[in-house]
Amino acid sequence: MRPILIVLACALLVACAVRPDTADLPRAASPANALTTPADGYLQEPTRIDPRITVFASPQPFHVQPIGNVAAIEQSDGFVLVDAGGTPAAAERIIAMLSGVSDKPVKAIVITHWHGDHVLGLRTMLARWPDARTISTAPTRAHLSDPATARFMPTGDEENDRAILQNLEAGVAFLQERAADTQFQDRIRAGYAQAAREVAQHAYDLADADAARMAPMETFTDRLVIPDRDAPVEVLFLGRANTDGDAVVWTPRQRVLITGDIVVAPIPFGFGAYPEQWIETLGRLKMFDFAMLVPGHGAVMRDSAYVDSLIALLTAVRAHVGPLARTAPLETVREQVSFAAEADAFSGGDPWLRRWFQPYWAAPIVASAYKEARGEPIVQGEP
Ligand SMILES: [Zn+2]
Repeated sequence: MRPILIVLACALLVACAVRPDTADLPRAASPANALTTPADGYLQEPTRIDPRITVFASPQPFHVQPIGNVAAIEQSDGFVLVDAGGTPAAAERIIAMLSGVSDKPVKAIVITHWHGDHVLGLRTMLARWPDARTISTAPTRAHLSDPATARFMPTGDEENDRAILQNLEAGVAFLQERAADTQFQDRIRAGYAQAAREVAQHAYDLADADAARMAPMETFTDRLVIPDRDAPVEVLFLGRANTDGDAVVWTPRQRVLITGDIVVAPIPFGFGAYPEQWIETLGRLKMFDFAMLVPGHGAVMRDSAYVDSLIALLTAVRAHVGPLARTAPLETVREQVSFAAEADAFSGGDPWLRRWFQPYWAAPIVASAYKEARGEPIVQGEP
């Protein structure tokens, strides 16, 4: 596997682990590469976006090793969490920060989709609140116990988890190598150095038995309501998009829409996605009269402008790839389609962000659009 792919295999879906009982990494002392303070921009911080809703997001919106946003909705008898944090350590930090909001328990945890950066804090959350309901769509629940997706997340299986760790270590080495390469401009080298620390931190954080994935207990098909006088919560499936089981959370009183990775900024993630249905699902998101939209990664939004830009982007992908897909192999299509203008727009002129537009968005979404145009199945966990 080429180094860049190794990085992606780790970074994206995200997880790489040390088998807990052989973890040599010292947990007491900080490893040399580890981030230790929120000032580094990786760790989540709380923002109260409404008297009853707190969002835990990284101060900087883009990370090569992604970490999903977590939202907490305060009902009269406890919190409803949307996603569980990407590691046990992230979950521990969120638990601590939540106690600063209220001493109410967490009563339910909604998992928006199966990717590890939203899921791997779940055991830690449940260790603190064993009575909490855990909720997802049926596809998300299935993927979280499916052998086909195991290579992206620690499962407690020794061989699987060691392979994940090795990918992660290779990713760190690759990033460090690039950080030291003087052919890159300073901004790019700094980005690689930061990314190397974050991926190393990620491994360190996953050196924990509680990092093993687990599936939610409860599923819903189209709609599940968690009632409350002041902050009722609707958990919805609006159609396939970033995965085949993306859950969306709507709080009608506060008019806050929490989308998981159906909306990710500044650069969307395109792995295993469903371009045509994603456009339709984004159209359904726009029908909500939301005051705020909380994306799966990135800053809280107050209008539909970014959703519109995603619809335009996906429409362009389908328009470029569709006609070519009938006759050309995927590699040829990848070479023939260019998204230079889109890469400029989404990266906002930042060369570091622009560098990741291709591997995190263009390459995988072209593969999905290609399969879609040829009537081939899009399978979660496949490139
Ligand atoms: Zn994510």
